[in-house]
Amino acid sequence: MLRFECPCCGPRDHDEFRYGGDASVRRPAHDDPDPEAWYAYVYIRKNPAGLHREFWQHVTGCRQWLVVERDTRNHVISSVAFARTSQA
Ligand SMILES: [Zn+2]
Repeated sequence: MLRFECPCCGPRDHDEFRYGGDASVRRPAHDDPDPEAWYAYVYIRKNPAGLHREFWQHVTGCRQWLVVERDTRNHVISSVAFARTSQA
């Protein structure tokens, strides 16, 4: 079982959290007319074997959105930070 070190609540089991997607994806500008940019934003995802930045929300705790850096090969979590202050 994964355990996240929530910066607000401390160590918690992962079933208190909801996965929110790839934290490395950048949304195009609101008025960007390029359909390829929107297609890539909505549908194209990497499937890395290694470090991956992910959004997680602590839904049964503080409800904060977090950026978790997790190794997809062994699920070792190397960092957890508030999404509102995290540099992507
Ligand atoms: Zn929390």
